[in-house]
Amino acid sequence: MSKFRNIPLPPRLIYGRGALNQLDCVLSSHRKNRHSPFIYILDHCLKHKKNISEKLPLDGNDLIVYADTTLEPKTKQVDDIRDRLKSAFRDNISGIIGIGGGSVMDIAKAVALMLTNKGSSADYQGWDLIQNPAIYKVGIPTLSGTGAEVSRTCVLMGPEKKLGINSDHTPFDQIILDPDLIADVPREQRFYTGMDCYIHCIESLNGSYINAFSRTHGEKALALCREVFLDCEDWNPECDEKLMMASYLGGISIATSHLGVVHALSYGLSYLLGIKHGEGNCNVLDHIEKYYPEGYAEFQLMLEKNNIQLRKNICKDLGDKDFETMSKVALGLEPLCENALGKNWKDEINPQVIKKIYQEI
Ligand code: NAD
Ligand code: ZN
Repeated sequence: MSKFRNIPLPPRLIYGRGALNQLDCVLSSHRKNRHSPFIYILDHCLKHKKNISEKLPLDGNDLIVYADTTLEPKTKQVDDIRDRLKSAFRDNISGIIGIGGGSVMDIAKAVALMLTNKGSSADYQGWDLIQNPAIYKVGIPTLSGTGAEVSRTCVLMGPEKKLGINSDHTPFDQIILDPDLIADVPREQRFYTGMDCYIHCIESLNGSYINAFSRTHGEKALALCREVFLDCEDWNPECDEKLMMASYLGGISIATSHLGVVHALSYGLSYLLGIKHGEGNCNVLDHIEKYYPEGYAEFQLMLEKNNIQLRKNICKDLGDKDFETMSKVALGLEPLCENALGKNWKDEINPQVIKKIYQEI
C-alpha cells in the first residue's frame, strides 16, 4: 500500500456574494439533453426562503426534493430518494445539486453515488467500497462549519452504525460558496455548526497525524474561527465570509490528518440519542478538559461571548447498556482515538473511562 493518500477535492469552485446567480451558467454545459433533469435536493427549511428558491434556474423536468434534516441523514432516507428518482427518470438524470447544511451536503453526495451503485447506501458505509463514479454533483452550503462541502465522505446513520461513505468518488464536482446564503442562520445553529470547524482544527492540530499540509490549512481555519467567535463584537457580513472560508479550510485540513476524542464520543451521542453533530461536539468538549486543555478553555470563552447555554445532564436517564452502546461507537473509531492519544491509546481510554465522561455530560 502506498504511504500517502491521493486526495480528491472538488475540482471547481465559485466563491463570492451572489455566486448562486451563476448556477445557471455552471449547469448549462452539464445538461445531457432537454428531457434529462437536474435534481435539486434542498434542506426543508429552505422551502420559504425566497432568496434561494426563486434563484434556482429550473427548466424542463427539473425537480426539487426537500430533505427533512430534523434528524441526521439516514441510509434509508438516501435509498428512498434514489428509488424515487430511479422510478421517475431511470438513468436519465443530468446531476444532483445539494443546497443546505452538512446534512444536505451528505444526502446529495450519497444520492449521486447511489444512482450508479447497486444496493443500499448502508452497504457502502466504510472506506473505498464504492465501485462506480457518481453522477455529476454540485454542493451549495447554507451553513458553515462541517467542511462537508469539500470532504471525501458523506456521513450517514445506518441500521448498525453512524459512518461515512468514504471514497474518491464522494467529493462534489463543483461547489458554490456564497456567503449571502448563510447570512440569516439563527445564532445558536451558527454557533454549533461553526464549532464543528473549531473542533476539527483543535483535534487535528493537536493530533499525532498532524503534518505541514494539514497544519497550514488548519491554523488559518482556527484563526478565522477565533476572529468570528471571540474577537467580533457584532456579527456582520464579513463574519459570514470568514466562517465560510474557515469551514472550507478546516475540511481540507482534516483530509490529511484526523479528528480526535471529541468526535469519537460525539458520534456515540448522535447514534444513541440523535443529538446533532455540532451540538454533540460542544457537549463533549465541555467535559474533556483533560484531553484538550487549551481548546477547552478557549471554548468556554466562546460559549460566554456568544451567549450559548449548553443542555445539561443529557445522559442522566441512560442505563449500562446505553453507555455500552455509545462507548462501542466511540471506541470503534480507532484512528480518531489513536490520533488523539497515540499508539497506546487503549491504555488511556476504555469503556469505563468513556462511561464516566458520558455520565457527566
Ligand atoms: P444540518 O445540515 O443538520 O442543519 C441543522 C439545522 O439547520 C437544520 O434544522 C436545517 O434545517 C437548518 N438550516 C440549514 N441551513 C439553514 C439556513 N441557511 N438558515 C437557517 N437554518 C438552516 O447542520 P450542519 O451542522 O451543517 O450538519 C450536520 C451534519 O453534517 C451531520 O449529519 C454530520 O454528521 C455531518 N457532517 C459531515 C461531514 C462530512 O465531511 N461529510 C463533516 C462534519 C459533519
Ligand atoms: Zn465534525
